[in-house]
Amino acid sequence: MEIRTRFAPSPTGFMHVGNLRTCLYGYLFAKKNNGKFILRIEDTDQERYVEGAVETIYKTLQKAGIVHDEGPDKDGGVGPYIQSERKAIYLEYAKKLVELGGAYYCFCDKDRLDSLAGENGIKKYDKHCLKLTKAEVQAKLDNGIPYVIRQNIPKEGVSSYLDMVFGEISVPNCDMEDGILIKSDGMPTYNFANVVDDHLMKITHVIRGMEYLSSTPKYNLMYDAFGWERPQYMHLPPIMRDATHKLSKRHGDANFEDFLEKGYLVPAIVNYIALLGWAPSDNKEKMSMSELMEAFDVKGISKSGSILDEAKMKWLNSQYIKELSVDEFVKLAKPFFEQSKTAGKYDYNKLAVLLIPRLEILSDIPGKIDFLEEFEGYDLELYENKKNKMDKQIAIEILEKSIPLFEDTSDFSEENLQNIIANIIEQGGYKKGQVFLTIRLALTGAQMTPGGATEMADLLGKAESMRRLKYSLNYLKG
Ligand code: GLU
Repeated sequence: MEIRTRFAPSPTGFMHVGNLRTCLYGYLFAKKNNGKFILRIEDTDQERYVEGAVETIYKTLQKAGIVHDEGPDKDGGVGPYIQSERKAIYLEYAKKLVELGGAYYCFCDKDRLDSLAGENGIKKYDKHCLKLTKAEVQAKLDNGIPYVIRQNIPKEGVSSYLDMVFGEISVPNCDMEDGILIKSDGMPTYNFANVVDDHLMKITHVIRGMEYLSSTPKYNLMYDAFGWERPQYMHLPPIMRDATHKLSKRHGDANFEDFLEKGYLVPAIVNYIALLGWAPSDNKEKMSMSELMEAFDVKGISKSGSILDEAKMKWLNSQYIKELSVDEFVKLAKPFFEQSKTAGKYDYNKLAVLLIPRLEILSDIPGKIDFLEEFEGYDLELYENKKNKMDKQIAIEILEKSIPLFEDTSDFSEENLQNIIANIIEQGGYKKGQVFLTIRLALTGAQMTPGGATEMADLLGKAESMRRLKYSLNYLKG
């Protein structure tokens, strides 16, 4: 039998990393097993509808490199793939379920429902309308009395199933309510639509968040009542912000787009998200999409929540940055260069060479290079450095010797600058550290720079380097 999985997002306008992980696992599981991956839009809750949200879903999948085989834009013969376009189908199946005894019409009004005092204050529907005869139901329908259709859950017994991650799940039937399947506006609830759609779309494996773990027995009762084969279920543990808090959808920093804005690279995001709640048998960490597809196995899914650790995610991202060519880096980093105070002033290729080995996320770029424009008036105490046997007086001496030699050369390549500095060290009897530190500070005024003295001189170019060296000498002399 062909394996078919689906991703069934509600169009809320953003793609939370939890949703993206669910999507990814469904995709990986299908592809690992040569199956099909289906995209279905669950938009029956019209109040939550957000303009453009479906576009966000397509865009995210495309950026992440997740390719659905069927969906609203790719017909595979079991569509429509948008729930709001399937209203008539749900009503038809709900009526069928009524005939089969798995559901019934309910005409109770709000007052009656409000009056149902339940145990512990929880209101539970009392199957009042189940007592109506067929003729009574028909009379009410003919009279246009508003109705909903409810699931008819047996009062006794236990419903169980075997979850692929959590093992056996059992819920006593008396703990489940006769939930609404079709609302008074004729729209299905999620509870009903997901069952009908998963069956009609021939889904073999339902992969989704753990919040549905304990309502799945209800869905299975519907499959049974219809006489349909139940799918297999793989429920996924939550993603946590810390040991006790789930990563909230409202938290505002856990959407795919947020991570892109922060300067994470797409393959790093996908890689990290795949590892949130799953590990390959060899515990490998850096994995491409095709490696993930190859290695994905339900055995590696953990039962407990996993914490989104941004430090770890940044480390992983830095591994991807290191693999970029200068051209690739510049293309991705351009928006972040433009945000920097140095925008347009330096050769981006040269900056790229300096930054690639030193960067965790692209949004750190301005912080790493803004110092280039914060030169004047820097802290002279930086020259006082016991470890390097340095002080301001030595710095003045070194600069007085260096400036004419730098001035005399037109070749500002790193190689030539290294030679000049080597001469200064030799002739003056200085320590290497003294000369390199002095020149680097005199050029940048910064304690930390992405690169040493010669790299900074090369980046700044001769004219600007000379201006800065002279400025620093005067500044040191007070
Ligand atoms: N629309 C549901 C959600 O976004 C789908 C749940 C499922 O995969 O069954 O949570």
